[in-house]
Amino acid sequence: MKLEALAPEAPSIGSPFDLRVSKADKVDETDIRSALESGEWGFIHSFTTGSAVDGPGVRVVAWLTSCQFRCVYCHNPDTWKLTNGTPVRLDRAIDVVSQYKTSLRSMKGGLTVSGGEPLMQHRFLSKLFPAVHKLGIHTALETNGHLGERLSDDDLTSIDLVMLGLKAIEPGLHKRLTGVDNKDVHDFARRLAARKHPVWIRFVVVPGWTDDMGEVDRMADFVASLGNVLRVDILPFHQMGRFKWDKLGMEYRLHEAVPPSRETVDKVIARFRANGLKVV
Ligand code: SF4
Repeated sequence: MKLEALAPEAPSIGSPFDLRVSKADKVDETDIRSALESGEWGFIHSFTTGSAVDGPGVRVVAWLTSCQFRCVYCHNPDTWKLTNGTPVRLDRAIDVVSQYKTSLRSMKGGLTVSGGEPLMQHRFLSKLFPAVHKLGIHTALETNGHLGERLSDDDLTSIDLVMLGLKAIEPGLHKRLTGVDNKDVHDFARRLAARKHPVWIRFVVVPGWTDDMGEVDRMADFVASLGNVLRVDILPFHQMGRFKWDKLGMEYRLHEAVPPSRETVDKVIARFRANGLKVV
């Protein structure tokens, strides 16, 4: 099936917590490849409007599909597969954002592109961000950072804020947690630091995985050493995505895990603050 035949009139508005699968399974492989190469199409799980937790102010969020990480705590495993997303033309995506232009500006918000891992579709981003930026809308990229080298310095000029998810500092722990090494993530963090690019760090506290205070201290040290981090979001692990793992028939290793206690979260926050970082 050709992409054009599948393209919806309007991109799907919804929540990242909606389970979405097989939206583009029937599209020809060659069409998918050329869409990724041209950047004229994006594969999008959903658009959320009015989000107050995905960057500064009130935001439109585009949740892109495809991710190379396999985080044990991922709450959106349906975004891992590119073809679970709906193909959306670049101009339609720009239209969606521009229709909220006035309210996004008045609520000091903007567009956040999240996922999945948006940089799996970096050519789409390289076109979407400059177009939205030109409209005077604030832009943010939420990324795991592993593919940061795919962004040119020029690309970075149209991304006002990078929200970088740091999963773990110790390489072995990072590999167990995500299935992927963290060297490239750190290289991207340092590159952003060298450019003094505005960054927020996001760190998920998962009991038994990332709540060891030695690990937290090393993470806080690393983040503080960068010098360009405007704020750190400490995110307590939750079970809102568990049903997706079950419905997708995937093995979920955190069935028994419970969210961290308030005391643990406060301890983690204190360790980051002790390094002079602003924590929310
Ligand atoms: S990087 Fe994000 S989307 Fe990818 S597996 Fe990890 S939590 Fe899920």
